[in-house]
Amino acid sequence: MKIDENVLDCIVKEVMNSLEGKSDAGQTGGVFTDVNEAVAAAKKAQRQLFRMTLADRKKITDAIRQDLVGHVEELSRMTVEETKMGRLEDKIQKNRAALLNTPGIEDLPTSVFSGDRGLTLLELSPFGVIGSITPSTNPTETVICNCIGMICAGNSVVFSPHPGAYRVTNYTVQLINKAILKAGGPENLVVTLSEPSLDKSNQLMKHPDIRMLVATGGPGIVKTVLSSGKKAIGAGAGNPPALVDQTADIEKAVKNIVAGCCFDNNLPCTSEKEAIVVDEVFEYFVFNMKNHPETYFLEDPSQIEALRKLVVKDGKPNKDYTGKNAAYILEKIGIQASEKIKLISCVADFNHDFVQLELLMPILPIVRAKDREEALEMGLEAEHGNRHTAICHSKDIDFLSLTAKEMQTTIFVKNAPSFAGIGIGGEGYTTFTIAGPTGEGLTSTKSYCRHRRCTLVDGFNIR
Ligand code: NAD
Repeated sequence: MKIDENVLDCIVKEVMNSLEGKSDAGQTGGVFTDVNEAVAAAKKAQRQLFRMTLADRKKITDAIRQDLVGHVEELSRMTVEETKMGRLEDKIQKNRAALLNTPGIEDLPTSVFSGDRGLTLLELSPFGVIGSITPSTNPTETVICNCIGMICAGNSVVFSPHPGAYRVTNYTVQLINKAILKAGGPENLVVTLSEPSLDKSNQLMKHPDIRMLVATGGPGIVKTVLSSGKKAIGAGAGNPPALVDQTADIEKAVKNIVAGCCFDNNLPCTSEKEAIVVDEVFEYFVFNMKNHPETYFLEDPSQIEALRKLVVKDGKPNKDYTGKNAAYILEKIGIQASEKIKLISCVADFNHDFVQLELLMPILPIVRAKDREEALEMGLEAEHGNRHTAICHSKDIDFLSLTAKEMQTTIFVKNAPSFAGIGIGGEGYTTFTIAGPTGEGLTSTKSYCRHRRCTLVDGFNIR
């Protein structure tokens, strides 16, 4: 039997490591205290990966998918425990989608020019070492999607995890490294920082060996990477409106909006943040929302104001309530609700904080629009030019087309919950790095590549 050289190398390394009492995912498992050491290790690993074949990249990322699927529940549970945000069952779905539905090496299309003067290839080539800054809202999902795409593109990556989710982020990196080594890949292809801080994040961004930056998070970090002077992908905030017109199937629209809005307690940047409903069907929409078994509908203006004062602090969302269960939030304003309740809803004016702020909480304000034109105008304004995600419930093709075009969002979902737009219950692949500001859209392998041209003159044109 012939043993693959890489596999043999890996077995020898593992035996040596275990004899020396080191982790079976290499000396550090990919976790470094020092930024320079982390980047140096990732640089070495990238050179090794670049000399390997596309089939090797596939083998490595297939191993990540296979090995981590068995850890999905553990990772989801750890995330909820560490961040104290979100819902276990939804995190399980998100992590599974990230592992099984993120594109791989098939997402590296080659283009070609051929003619009398020969043949020119356009190929997608790696950047080298990528610095990736990850959020607290989808920490493990982001690491998984980023790793699969970045490795398939031929890069290595240094993560700067969110301080509020660094334990689970770093554990995910360790599991990924273990899978990479088992598949014969280089040590430290994916590395992370043990004690993350803004200083370290800034050091990483400025490091000369970091060739590309990817930031998944709020406006602050997106602006920072875009000012870095390096190639940067910015995946920033959203405030997705769900528009509902008079032709929509209202019962279905309510079910879909509730499902999307309370998915992982509204943490996804893609989740419905406000419903804008035309006057003609407004009352029927509200009636259905009140009767939804998972919704607690607030009618008393003093309770709505008490909720606003609780979840908005100094004009900004109060992070103490980000991603918390609806029942927990209600309890803080003196309302006992069963754990079956997943969403708090109420009628609100367009200018209300619940509509204008990206709360990331299971709270859905419902705004009345006099007609479709006003609904669309409000949707555009509430989205604040993020061009992130919008949802529309309608059976009128012309209105759906107009809204899809005018909203200019990266994701537009018709007649379904928002998560259908990231490949959960809808067609298409999954990512948790949705790059509206820099235009890559739903990132995948090709987003992490440089376009390169390779020209051969006066040959290989066989027409
Ligand atoms: P956050 O902006 O607080 O943190 C994101 C990351 O950036 C963290 O690692 C944080 O430590 C780092 N960071 C923030 N400011 C920084 C600075 N000035 N310098 C260096 N590092 C900095 O985001 P969060 O609360 O974890 O996530 C929620 C936000 O992210 C929401 O606005 C949400 O819409 C957005 N988000 C967007 C996407 C997308 O794909 N577009 C995905 C997930 C989250």
